[in-house]
Amino acid sequence: MPLGPRTRVLLIAAVVFAALAALIWYLSFAYWSQPVTPLPTPRQAEEAATPQAPAATPPPQANATPPAQTTTTPAAQPTPSPTPAPSPQAQSTSGDAGAALASMRLLIPVAGVKPSELRDTFSDARSEGRVHDAIDIPAPRNTPVVAAADGRVVKLFHSAKGGTTVYQLASADEHFVFYYAHLDHYADGLAEGHVARRGEAIGYVGDTGDAAPGNTHLHFQIYRVADPRHFWTGENINPYPLLHAAQ
Ligand SMILES: [Zn+2]
Repeated sequence: MPLGPRTRVLLIAAVVFAALAALIWYLSFAYWSQPVTPLPTPRQAEEAATPQAPAATPPPQANATPPAQTTTTPAAQPTPSPTPAPSPQAQSTSGDAGAALASMRLLIPVAGVKPSELRDTFSDARSEGRVHDAIDIPAPRNTPVVAAADGRVVKLFHSAKGGTTVYQLASADEHFVFYYAHLDHYADGLAEGHVARRGEAIGYVGDTGDAAPGNTHLHFQIYRVADPRHFWTGENINPYPLLHAAQ
């Protein structure tokens, strides 16, 4: 049976309404119920980030630059302070100095040591590139050390290298210094300002300072000073020929 135009419109409206109602119900169900259930963690989003990880590795250029070069650059090396090694000068002036000293008839400054027992150790190498510039006279501990010539004791000094030492200004003009080192101890009553006579005991052989323990010997050094007030440094003169000729 045919439907009237009004009935058809009403039927379409009802279908549309029903469809709309169903849609609204569905949507309302979806929107109201979805927040209740916790959203699963989107794993795909996390995994999607992993492919980008290799981009974080340093580019090959960074590996190509050798960082070792910066570490191998040598640090500023402390240049060893050049020791005033006046050996050539001493030889050039040994004529004058030698004559002046020879006239003083030096004694071997260790009691009982004969000239033939001396060894020339003036040019021996020492630590830090230094040269010995002196003579070492081995002797048993507490062998008397005697003044090689007349002269004023200008300084009694204890130092790390020399140990117990005596500085004596020899010769009339006091331009020669005799340096006695590694003493075990001083002679009784020895004092600065005392004029020690040739052959007078001023101390005793030992191994103080940087001498190896038990290596008892006298380190005897002669040098010429420009100014006696600066008695601690000067031109070294080899004592060996002077002592070897002594008697
Ligand atoms: Zn020495």
